[in-house]
Amino acid sequence: MYDLLIKGGRVCDGSGLPSYLGDVAVQNGRIAEVGRVDGGAERVIDAGGLAVSPGFIDFHTHLDAQLLWDPIATSSCWHGITTVIPGNCGLTLAPCRPQDRESTLGSFVRVEAMPLQVLKSAVNWEWETFPEYLNRLDGKLGVNVAALVGHCALRQYVMGDAACEREATDDEIERMKNILKESMRAGAIGFSTNQNPVHMRSDGRPIPSRLAAKREILELAGVLGDLSRGSVQISVGTPGIAVPAEEAVAWFNRIAARAGRPVVWQSIAHRWDQPSLYRQLLDLAEKGQAEGVPSYPLCNARLFNNRFNLKNAQVFDDLPTWKETLFKPLDARIERFRDPELRMKLRSEAVENNFRSRFSRRWDLVYMIKAASAKNKPLERKSVAEIAALQGKEVIDAFLDLSLEEGLETMFQTSSTNGDESAVAEILRSPHTLVGQSDAGAHLIYDAGYGYATRFLGHWIRERNVMGLEEGVRKLTSMVASIFGLHDRGLIRPGMAADLVLFDPDTVGDSEPEMVSDLPGGEKRLVQKAKGIQMTLVNGEVLTEAGKHSGALPGRVLGKR
Ligand SMILES: [Zn+2]
Repeated sequence: MYDLLIKGGRVCDGSGLPSYLGDVAVQNGRIAEVGRVDGGAERVIDAGGLAVSPGFIDFHTHLDAQLLWDPIATSSCWHGITTVIPGNCGLTLAPCRPQDRESTLGSFVRVEAMPLQVLKSAVNWEWETFPEYLNRLDGKLGVNVAALVGHCALRQYVMGDAACEREATDDEIERMKNILKESMRAGAIGFSTNQNPVHMRSDGRPIPSRLAAKREILELAGVLGDLSRGSVQISVGTPGIAVPAEEAVAWFNRIAARAGRPVVWQSIAHRWDQPSLYRQLLDLAEKGQAEGVPSYPLCNARLFNNRFNLKNAQVFDDLPTWKETLFKPLDARIERFRDPELRMKLRSEAVENNFRSRFSRRWDLVYMIKAASAKNKPLERKSVAEIAALQGKEVIDAFLDLSLEEGLETMFQTSSTNGDESAVAEILRSPHTLVGQSDAGAHLIYDAGYGYATRFLGHWIRERNVMGLEEGVRKLTSMVASIFGLHDRGLIRPGMAADLVLFDPDTVGDSEPEMVSDLPGGEKRLVQKAKGIQMTLVNGEVLTEAGKHSGALPGRVLGKR
């Protein structure tokens, strides 16, 4: 008698092999049998018409705090995610001494844009060490958690506020190494570090990991090498922008070679201001991997949307006349937008010119998303290029006339990153990239990236056909599990943990984010629902069914011994 029997689904087992019609039996939290399975079960689930795949593993989250009040990790769990990895970008809530709590939260507030009052009220500091933090989570989780140790927390713990001021001494490095080792032994799955030059705490000081010398990072990565366990996650800002591309990738590869452990680096995306950078980075990633270095770039299946109107727009800041105009008071701004001579200048910069700019000059990719007047509602969701064609106008006139007519309140949307679909398809299709950069739990009111997996399966695989479903599932499951050392996850095989997702390949997709007020204290955040995700199972128990939480809390801290 099995606990659960999933009958007649299309099994995409996570390996990338062709899928097959079959059954999956679950017993004691693990996969018991796969293939044609007869025999009784407590519950039989008809998976006819659905794909059955390993649960997706979201490896780039900032859910460290949210998991304390939201054990099922919404919105991630609605998108087929069964395991989340918090502790990215050098930031964790442990280890942390009582006197450092404020500055630790300050990094999350500033770098990850979480409201301070929410963190202060909901983080109750029942821990000091990393093992204590893991104990606080374990037994109270809906999804599985596999946690990285953040370099900022390690530094602050050992060096106090000097962590934001200077390099560490040999003795301090030694102490950090010991704490990292202890955390790894207690169940951490790796270490994260962050030298992004724009990342600051809310007190205006650099986050501690920015002050680390290369030697310190190599020594800490070496701890993972000594243990033969764990992965390193690193960000130095955009390679090719913050640091020359070759230098950045050579550094990531050096860490990976020195420690003999996987390094996951941030990131490859298409940018309008450096349109061939992504290809250079893909080549560099391929070269490193060909040399035998376990160094993997991450990338994202979604574009980074800018929503703006001409009252608050920043997307034109690289264009001098636009910038000058958009910094004028409202009346003067309106006057300038009306002025035919100035319009010629604006047109030349935003339509014709060729100098580098984060703005794409692709007016077919600038969408009007919200009209401020009922009259213009029918134009919503059309691109400015389409609107111009409908009205028989030049794009610049269509854009400015519409905004002027609505007091500059018309909302538009465009993308400075990943806006070129053919480039993004090339990045996603590359065998060298990891897909997923959800930043779940961060940037709560600006952007919602929870749905990278459903977007990948729906938009990129079904609609754009960038790869087969099986290969896509492999990228979301066993590839991630392998790199992060989650060796009993990511595949549907007897003996593996029964983390599963049942979805409809014909409808799976991500929904538009919506603003809700469900944070502690009623604060606002964006949530994102999914389409076509029928069920998720975590450790053999149903976690969500048709988008609803079952009430069960079957998740665990992975790696704990
Ligand atoms: Zn991050």
